[in-house]
Amino acid sequence: MITFDGVTKRYADGTVAVDGLSLEVPTGEITVFVGPSGCGKTTSLRMVNRMVEPTGGRVLLDGVDVSAVDPPALRRGIGYVIQQAGLFPHRTVAENVATVPRLLGWDRRRARARALELLERVGLETALADRYPFQLSGGQQQRVGVARALAADPPVLLMDEPFSAVDPVVRASLQQELLRLQAELRKTILFVTHDIDEAITLGDRVAVFRTGGRLARLDAPERLLAE
Ligand code: ADP
Ligand code: ADP
Repeated sequence: MITFDGVTKRYADGTVAVDGLSLEVPTGEITVFVGPSGCGKTTSLRMVNRMVEPTGGRVLLDGVDVSAVDPPALRRGIGYVIQQAGLFPHRTVAENVATVPRLLGWDRRRARARALELLERVGLETALADRYPFQLSGGQQQRVGVARALAADPPVLLMDEPFSAVDPVVRASLQQELLRLQAELRKTILFVTHDIDEAITLGDRVAVFRTGGRLARLDAPERLLAE
């Protein structure tokens, strides 16, 4: 479980991006942060893996204050997926996915086997494993990004607008595949989007942010839909 406990982030220029955020991201569920651009969603997400440090309050992971954990150790347990998949351009698809297992000391053969298994799980044809990212469509690249984030089997996934740059049809299929994968894997997922439909489709719970980095409400998607 991820706990935001009165978390505030004021950037050096005085911008208050997040203002007294308190909520829980339950284990094994998808919690979606939704709201207009600039309302503090990305900043909140990045305080979980210490890409951003809070200026007030605490972020806890299973009860442990993340500020007490070295970022590299912390990030081993946290997969991270962003909008432009952020793949290494000079590595093949399989090498991209195998990067983290290799860093963890897995031998080449085992890391490749893991990469191929994950690529299949995210719905990518194995024939694409030895291509380079630029040879793939945007949707395929995002699948690789998800596979790479899952490579070391982290219990937590941070997903920051992972499907926002692909067309609506591909996007819908990526959403369905994430739900299918999640039914199997039961990760603790914090998913950021500015799209309320996406939030309702994916979220077990939806946290609606408003401008100024405040939480407007936190609810089950059915209840948001009912309004
Ligand atoms: P969102 O993800 O909801 O679009 P962000 O967390 O990216 O929101 O940004 C929240 C606010 O903080 C915005 O006003 C943004 O301009 C500001 N901000 C984000 N990063 C920085 C930074 N490094 N320095 C100063 N202000 C920032
Ligand atoms: P996105 O909305 O796709 O998250 P942004 O354009 O808001 O991207 O931010 C891109 C980068 O610039 C991020 O690393 C963010 O932290 C930083 N940033 C955003 N707003 C500001 C700001 N007002 N001052 C300084 N850095 C900022």
